[in-house]
Amino acid sequence: PEETGLPFFKSLFANYEMLAENAGKQFSGQVDLDENIMLDQALTKQLMTILFDNALKYTDDDGEVKISVQKLNNQLNIIVSDNGEGISDQDKKKVFDRFYRVDKARTRQKGGLGLGLSLAKQIVDAYKGKVSVEDNHPKGTRFNIRLRLEK
Ligand code: ATP
Repeated sequence: PEETGLPFFKSLFANYEMLAENAGKQFSGQVDLDENIMLDQALTKQLMTILFDNALKYTDDDGEVKISVQKLNNQLNIIVSDNGEGISDQDKKKVFDRFYRVDKARTRQKGGLGLGLSLAKQIVDAYKGKVSVEDNHPKGTRFNIRLRLEK
């Protein structure tokens, strides 16, 4: 893990903003950190990028992706939300499984192997953290991640 502060997230967000713009979509990022934290930057970037890429991929032309990062005690909470097609309750239980894709016909054109979220879960597990998925309101999907920070 490396000592990490606002600049790490700001530069990641600048990158996401560019990618969203290229896709004709909106991105907004927010960070709330009162002090530097110890974080494996490569893994954290990989984790957030998987969720960000999905959010872009599974939204339409009016796509809006939001990421918020907040430190609470010895946890880092990361929320990635979008206003896309959403995930049914039935599928919510399976999207972290390897090779699982919700609608093969529909998602085929969007590419992908169904590996992104299983990798994201592995990264979170390595942190002894938690990842969950729920509906975003009024529309879309919201992923909540909690990472346990080391002292
Ligand atoms: P890849 O291997 O390139 O990541 P993928 O996007 O199909 O491909 P996952 O990231 O594991 O694989 O996602 C699994 C499935 O969950 C997707 O196929 C998609 O159906 C659904 N999904 C993931 N993120 C979202 C989202 N933000 N909104 C709606 N559906 C999603």
